[in-house]
Amino acid sequence: MPPPATYLDYAATTPTDPQVVEAMLPWFTERFGNPSSVHRWGQMAEQAVEDSRRIVSEEFGCRADEVIFTSGGSESDNLALRGAAHAARAARGADHLLISPVEHDAVLHTAEQLAEHEGFELELLPVDAYGQVAPQDLTDRIRPSTALVSIIYGNNEIGTLNDIEGLAAVTRERGVPFHSDALQTTSQLKVKLDQSGLDMLSIGAHKFYGPKGVGALIVRSGTSLTPLQTGGSQERGARAGTSNVSLIVGLAEAVRLAGQRREADSARFRELRDRIIQGVIERVLGAKLTGHPTERLANHCSFVIEGIDGNELLAALDLAGFACSSGSACKTGDPEPSQVLLAVGLEPQLSLGSLRVTVGRHSTDDEVRAFLVALPKLVERLRSSQPIPQ
Ligand SMILES: *Cc1c(COP(=O)(O)O)cnc(C)c1O
Repeated sequence: MPPPATYLDYAATTPTDPQVVEAMLPWFTERFGNPSSVHRWGQMAEQAVEDSRRIVSEEFGCRADEVIFTSGGSESDNLALRGAAHAARAARGADHLLISPVEHDAVLHTAEQLAEHEGFELELLPVDAYGQVAPQDLTDRIRPSTALVSIIYGNNEIGTLNDIEGLAAVTRERGVPFHSDALQTTSQLKVKLDQSGLDMLSIGAHKFYGPKGVGALIVRSGTSLTPLQTGGSQERGARAGTSNVSLIVGLAEAVRLAGQRREADSARFRELRDRIIQGVIERVLGAKLTGHPTERLANHCSFVIEGIDGNELLAALDLAGFACSSGSACKTGDPEPSQVLLAVGLEPQLSLGSLRVTVGRHSTDDEVRAFLVALPKLVERLRSSQPIPQ
């Protein structure tokens, strides 16, 4: 059976832009050199990697040598957390980690492992009902022994944006490294390293029309990081291994296109988003928006629906031709209520009925209209055939 015709899951991943594919192709075949080689095959590849680094640095308002290419968002998050935690402990004995309770698993599970196996003390910051961390709560909890603070920029499950600049004012004053997982923001928000006040920022190409398996950690110079992957001196020693030239070129092209299209894209996303949010709330009895009503990702709609099992709804939507999600792609098949939804104070039973609808460059008015017709019917059908005890 072909996959559902209507893709409404752009927060999980996006199609690679044909222009990005085009830019990558020669670096697989006729320009296959190893950028570490001295001969001209190598020089050509090295030039491509360094050109890519410059493109990324211009977009994120940093220096080229502040960009570390990685294999994606998860690796960037791991490098930020483990790298900064180990460096801070070595330099000043700092062993306290402060993260929000609404992080992606790439941050959460990494911090948990640092706590369980390496003796760091993990503290979760409070969040409000929208999943935002208040700068005052960070002020109250940050300590001289805090090795690192990590707070997600735009939430993948509930869409909420954090006040990164306000939070960074706190970490800067205390001289504590501040990382943000910004995987979801690149296609819609202009994020400049300096302006944000961040010390580290994770990005990943497949969330903004680039290829899977490549990302970057942007690290303000002066931030100490212990490398995770040791070997050659690639990425100035921060990440050993032969550079993935073609994917790095693809990442840079996707970053460049995101910069060009951001304004138009986000205006369009916002229009479709608001139509979906309004339509679902109006037409589906017992549906409630999760995350912040306005301070949210431009392409992101998320709900909980009373008396519904989220996974059953996703399966029904899939059969009806709509690809949606219940939150994070990694949660598929997992019957546990989402930690993020519990952290924002939702009842476990209600949080099992979550639905995430995210739009993208290829979304159309017709798709949104059809979705808003189909969803209420499917919810009705699921409710009548399988009542879930409250
Ligand atoms: C997708 C995503 C990740 C993981 O990135 P990968 O490139 O898939 O490893 C991490 N954090 C957030 C917020 C994401 O949306």
